Amino acid sequence: MVLLILLVAALNCSPGGSRVVRRSAAHMGTVVTISVVATSKSHGEQSIDRGFAEIARLEQMLSSYRATSVLSRLNAMAGAGPVSVPEEFIELILVAQEVAASTGSAFNPLMGPAVKLWGIPENPRVPSPEALEALRPLTDLAGLSVMPQRGTVALSRPGMALGLGGIAKGYTADRVTEILKGLGVTGGVVAISGDVRVFGTQPDGSPWRVAVQDPGGGPDPIAVIEMSGGALSTSGDYQRFFEQDGIRYHHILDPRTLRPTRGLASVSVLTADGVRADALATAVLVMGAVEGLAYVEASAGVEALFVDQNGHLTATSGWPKRP
Ligand code: AMP
Ligand code: MG
Repeated sequence: MVLLILLVAALNCSPGGSRVVRRSAAHMGTVVTISVVATSKSHGEQSIDRGFAEIARLEQMLSSYRATSVLSRLNAMAGAGPVSVPEEFIELILVAQEVAASTGSAFNPLMGPAVKLWGIPENPRVPSPEALEALRPLTDLAGLSVMPQRGTVALSRPGMALGLGGIAKGYTADRVTEILKGLGVTGGVVAISGDVRVFGTQPDGSPWRVAVQDPGGGPDPIAVIEMSGGALSTSGDYQRFFEQDGIRYHHILDPRTLRPTRGLASVSVLTADGVRADALATAVLVMGAVEGLAYVEASAGVEALFVDQNGHLTATSGWPKRP
């Protein structure tokens, strides 16, 4: 399910002796690959250890699959008053709210109950319109309140569930990048499935090359981007889905219909930080080709590549040309 492949020369060593050290491991329900430029193999391996330790720590805070996570504790208290949460959790919720506000609620971190009703991917089924509509009050963003001064978050109604699946991978990629930089790593790539954060360059000074996978399943990437910083996130209808009567039902829901989005096969968003790239990729897939393109063109420092169901590509005006 790795969405982006990294095209990096094997055993890329510079004359100064720095090299790329890389490791993949399963985390956050997917494959994470950390690549670092290191002065020695042991420096690289130690840095990567610290990176994966940070991922494990954040997973324990942000996962909805772990009953003891901060997120699960908050959801268990839905309708029962404010819950004290760590400062970084508040920071992340504030970004989620900011993206929700700027995208007309296309990004909605309260879709959890609806996602659960669709049962994607564990127990897939098409819910009745009545069952879906009954959940609508639980998805109302007004029911999520954050009190940064008090360090609390509250969900106003029982049954509400905050879900960070659309933003947590990009946020985690940012945090891991900060850890690696703090260890003196001069360049690297943190790829959490389709959420990729890059810093610095390869040992020979050339940019990293990040490829965007064909959502149609073709062997060739649809784009290869040269990056020496910033983040690239892709959301698509082909990552988690089921099909019934020739219709594909996938894991990203349009908050207006509470149904999987139709129209775009994937959206890739390029911007400075992983947390916004991740949330915006999800949001823009929901907004669709017309509204999504207008939104990204109007957003400073954000570019996007859209792929429709026929494999037709549309890029925003500042999307990098093929190297
Ligand atoms: P991503 O792969 O980043 O696009 O995130 C997809 C995940 O975000 C889904 O598996 C859901 O948990 C969650 N999600 C679904 N629909 C939305 C939405 N409209 N806004 C925010 N998160 C969503
Ligand atoms: Mg996302």
